[in-house]
Amino acid sequence: MKICKVCLSSDILCAGCSRRLEDGKITKTDIDISRAIHKISREKDFNVDFLQGEEDNGKVFVIVESRHAAKFIGPGGRNIKKLSEMLRKPVKMLEKSEGSEKHMIEKLIGAPVLGINKVYASQKAHKENGSRESFKVRVEKRYARTTQPLAGVVGKILGRKISFVFE
Ligand SMILES: [Zn+2]
Repeated sequence: MKICKVCLSSDILCAGCSRRLEDGKITKTDIDISRAIHKISREKDFNVDFLQGEEDNGKVFVIVESRHAAKFIGPGGRNIKKLSEMLRKPVKMLEKSEGSEKHMIEKLIGAPVLGINKVYASQKAHKENGSRESFKVRVEKRYARTTQPLAGVVGKILGRKISFVFE
């Protein structure tokens, strides 16, 4: 969880958690997800944790470790549905896997990656977006509709700029 036990069941943040929010170590989305999971876990067996939460296009993306994935969704999608009701936004779970960047992106987008071209940014661009290396990820055209909206969130997870090329 992204906030301490006290803050999980309260509506305000303690000094420690407020500082982490101000420093950008956690986001408002992380806090909302943590509290919602905590609330659900008090009613039923929903003992899961998550790595990162990102909001993009009115959707909440929750990144979880593979071992938590099945439980996070729950039988017939029950848990994720409940979480979505509590956050009042559609929730999409993404699995973070270990291994190569290619494997990780495939898990995140749920489609095979044909290849990754690394693009090195100029010094100026580097200063602007923080990462010197960006990825051009090549994906089959038929996955374009589901993959394209994930560019922002995949980029946030990998900590670099991501663009998809469909071929
Ligand atoms: Zn706290």
